[in-house]
Amino acid sequence: MLSSGVLWMDAGLVGLIGLLIGSFLNVVAYRLPKMMERQWAAECAELSGKELPPAERFNLSVPRSRCPHCGHAIAWHENIPVVSYLLLRGKCSDCKKPIGVRYPLVELATGALFFFCTLQWGNSSAGWAWCAFSALLLVLALIDWDTTLLPDDLTLPLLWLGLIAAAMQWIPVTLNSSLWGAVAGYMSLWSVYWAFKLATGKDGMGFGDFKLFAALGAWFGWQTLIPIILIASVIGAVVGIAMKLNSSLREGGYVPFGPFLAGAGFSALILGPQTLQRFVGL
Ligand SMILES: [Zn+2]
Repeated sequence: MLSSGVLWMDAGLVGLIGLLIGSFLNVVAYRLPKMMERQWAAECAELSGKELPPAERFNLSVPRSRCPHCGHAIAWHENIPVVSYLLLRGKCSDCKKPIGVRYPLVELATGALFFFCTLQWGNSSAGWAWCAFSALLLVLALIDWDTTLLPDDLTLPLLWLGLIAAAMQWIPVTLNSSLWGAVAGYMSLWSVYWAFKLATGKDGMGFGDFKLFAALGAWFGWQTLIPIILIASVIGAVVGIAMKLNSSLREGGYVPFGPFLAGAGFSALILGPQTLQRFVGL
């Protein structure tokens, strides 16, 4: 009884940390693609020998967060996860324009995932490893949805961390299964990419998708790759058709695949990889 009480308290505390991490993930999702664009612009300018006008510093901590409508600098008390959104009633304190409901939703989702992981695996290496997995996967889904990019700065750490977690036996996947999961995850989508490209001359997906699938293979083992790709494809097809009927497809009709891979990864996390394998009859 006592131990279960302690477990709930741990989960509650880690869940609160998750809310704060969620707030940081919002910043990463917003800024990291912009930082990449700036870097590419700088590299292009350097290659072509042009001078770029000096830009102000822009990274994950500088400058301070501002309202995108009026530039109002967001004070610390307007930046408390979920609470500030509710107190401000979803509006900027200065210009009263609405603040995206996605911000508190991402915070809540991260908090809930951290809570779940701690309840499931306790305040342990396994619990924290799955928290890190959740945070990286969530922010990758957001960035891919917004920009159709899956930055290496996030996919590769997710992949390495999965291999390390398996090697350290933090997660119930053998290193062998984790390693071959990463290899088969990458190679399978890479082959689909080239088959599609040779057949149609078009790019069906991006290299980031291969790396993300490889990372999921590292975390869940090669045995879970087929259920993951099936679930991702089904959710992707349903959402794609819904968006088409709804005419909310963006220009070119391209739907990024990463968010659906992430969705399948979260179902493997929450239901357990064995459940997923049984689900597709493996
Ligand atoms: Zn404002």
